[in-house]
Amino acid sequence: MFSLSGKTAIITGAGSGIGKAIAVAFAKQGAHVEVLDLNESTAAEVVSEIKSTGGSAAASACDVADASSVEAAFEAAWKRQQHLDILVNNAGIAHVGNVLNTSEADLDRIYNVNVKGVAHCLKAGVQRMLTSGGGVVLNLCSIAALMGIGDRFAYSMSKGAVLAMTYNVAQDYMKQNIRCNALCPGRIHTPFVDGFIKKNYPDRVDEMFEKLSKTQPIGRMGTPEEVAAAAVFLCSDEASFITGVAYPVDGGTLYL
Ligand code: NAD
Repeated sequence: MFSLSGKTAIITGAGSGIGKAIAVAFAKQGAHVEVLDLNESTAAEVVSEIKSTGGSAAASACDVADASSVEAAFEAAWKRQQHLDILVNNAGIAHVGNVLNTSEADLDRIYNVNVKGVAHCLKAGVQRMLTSGGGVVLNLCSIAALMGIGDRFAYSMSKGAVLAMTYNVAQDYMKQNIRCNALCPGRIHTPFVDGFIKKNYPDRVDEMFEKLSKTQPIGRMGTPEEVAAAAVFLCSDEASFITGVAYPVDGGTLYL
């Protein structure tokens, strides 16, 4: 069940957190994984970890906000593998602020990485999938696109755009055998969350971790591996009738 054997996957932002967990899980299910990250050394570490357990992977430095960097990394992957079956648009950055205290520079930074970054990778990925018979795209969205989470104006804006891109790509390419879905995690314990708490609440780190865990309906934050398990399913052939959905992995946050 849920085999990815023989498939080639590109995962952006796979040097850390959820992207890393997805890369490791995909390799375990038999995929060759192209690990892309802004941070070349963490991408290389993930590749070493995958290879040490018998998996197949390669690393590329890639800034998703820069279209030429994306094209170069996708072309390198293409030259190695000659086909592309799965694209996971995972790279993303966070920002705290409401509409009044979010600056023009904040808006640009979040938009360039979280929105244009996904658009650049969709362009580079979809055109290659079309020449190799189709594929699956999974966009890392967030429950922030589906509900108000408070004080995340720019971040929520960006994830709303990711959801809109998901629906459009699903619609435009379903007849050409490309599925496109969004994963909407709730609070997942990754370096993204660690960095956020340390930066915004430097004097209350332990208190904030406890508060974050207790305010989840399920009583704890999720793990990157729990998100990766959903990613494996949605990118497998067993999910062949699922396209254009926003799939929550949120410990009940949306509905409880
Ligand atoms: P993380 O910070 O642990 O990892 C993000 C990775 O993306 C890092 O390796 C970083 O180097 C890379 N990256 C950042 N900017 C990049 C760029 N311009 N080009 C290429 N790579 C870049 O984050 P995470 O928590 O694993 O989050 C991954 C995704 O999941 C993000 O899109 C985030 O919005 C989404 N998400 C996370 C949570 C959560 O609670 N952690 C919840 C909902 C959605």
